[in-house]
Amino acid sequence: MPSIRHKITFGYYLFAACIIGLAVFAYANLRFMEQRLDWGTAVSSLLDTTLEMRRFEKNYFLYGKPEDAASAQTYAGAALSLLEENTAAYREFAATDDLQQLREHLERYSERIAPLVNMPGEYSAARNAIEADIRKLGHDLSASAELISANEHDVMRTLLNTARRTVVGLLIAVTLFSLVLAHVLTWIVVRPLRRLERDLKDIGQGRISSLPARSKDQEIVSFTQAFNHTLHELEVRRRHLVQSEKLASLGTLVSGVAHELNNPLSNISTSTQLLLEELASADHDQIRAWLGDVEEQTERARRIVASLLDFSRDNPFVLNPTSLRSVLDKSVMLMAAQRPKSRCEIINDIAPEIRIDADAQKLQQVFVNLLGNAIDAGARKIQVQAPACMSEDNLEHYVWTQVPVTGECGTDMLCVAVNDDGPGIAADLLPKLFDPFFTTKDVGFGSGLGLYVVEKIIRQHNGSVGVTSTSGGGTTFLIRFPRRHATETMS
Ligand code: ADP
Repeated sequence: MPSIRHKITFGYYLFAACIIGLAVFAYANLRFMEQRLDWGTAVSSLLDTTLEMRRFEKNYFLYGKPEDAASAQTYAGAALSLLEENTAAYREFAATDDLQQLREHLERYSERIAPLVNMPGEYSAARNAIEADIRKLGHDLSASAELISANEHDVMRTLLNTARRTVVGLLIAVTLFSLVLAHVLTWIVVRPLRRLERDLKDIGQGRISSLPARSKDQEIVSFTQAFNHTLHELEVRRRHLVQSEKLASLGTLVSGVAHELNNPLSNISTSTQLLLEELASADHDQIRAWLGDVEEQTERARRIVASLLDFSRDNPFVLNPTSLRSVLDKSVMLMAAQRPKSRCEIINDIAPEIRIDADAQKLQQVFVNLLGNAIDAGARKIQVQAPACMSEDNLEHYVWTQVPVTGECGTDMLCVAVNDDGPGIAADLLPKLFDPFFTTKDVGFGSGLGLYVVEKIIRQHNGSVGVTSTSGGGTTFLIRFPRRHATETMS
């Protein structure tokens, strides 16, 4: 499996290979230059030897000393040996024919000067006969040696220029290669991290529920697996929390509902008793009225039981076009059953035509929690209003759990306000309200999960919830749903 570590290591190896290749090339280049310098030395030696030979030759013809002729001959022999030993070097700077000619000239020179070694220095006809020949040969020899030397200088200069250009070219190539390598490495390593960052943001905003496996890099795969596992664990715990909050409200609800069921049951019982007692004497209309009562009360009991079942069930999240007003009606009914002694007036100011793509059961829980809190706080009147548009300035007074849904009220979003005239909440407590387990109620009366669950449900609907309150001045919860979840139709 590929991994980021392997990719970085591979990049380093590639760079090291490039540097080693460069070093090998530079070393080979130096060796080559060294060899050329050796050849240059051989060329200089040939020129020096030839010039020495000529110097002694000239001295001989000037002063007539036989030892000068002997030295000239020795130098001619030395030049010949140099020619033999360094043929490969001289071939670099002169044509093979020229070298052959040089060799022949040197041999002839040695031959011609040999008799002079034993000849007295004075002028003689014999010496005169070979002087011109020797001088010409000497002149040709030094000219050839100088030509080889000049060629060698030219070749060296060209070589140095080429070497300079190669070094500059290599420097540019290595710089470009390093830049490209660094860029590619950064791209290979950073790209999956950027994707990861984007996916994490999407998870934070609720667009996706787990990290998709986008990269095959070992580190990213391990991280994704561990992160998804943690997300799964958190989700399981969240569900437990929501369920336990539900069970807590269910506890209160059941005792209220038991009381609430008592009324229709005793009404049914009364009507049935009357029916049994008066069956023979009562007229048809009377009997129908009693039976109607029984049916009506049975229906009432059925509705109460149905709401209770609805509320207690842990259904999966399903969006359906839902009438917001009727959800609130059902919640109010549950509230009445839950807190039968409450004298709080709940005003349903939700426009009947408002329908919203929502999970009705979950929304019911939102209203139950909000209404329950307001009643518990001592509110005498709760007003639930939708649409509840307000200016953006007013929104500044709200504490939001996340960036609020924005846009044109009615066009882009639907706003629902739950307002009560209770004692309000101290400003420093507002940011903590939606935290799990935050409660100001006595032990056994509050779980601190009600508003946490409210926030989760609204978030599931892609909405946002904010709260504003002043101590002694009531509390308002504002819920904003994005427009695609809210549709207004005439019902
Ligand atoms: P719980 O109701 O179990 O305490 P919640 O999360 O529902 O948990 O509420 C947290 C706290 O927020 C409550 O304990 C209460 O102090 C405060 N609160 C919520 N709604 C209101 C309200 N309408 N008026 C006054 N206080 C409120």
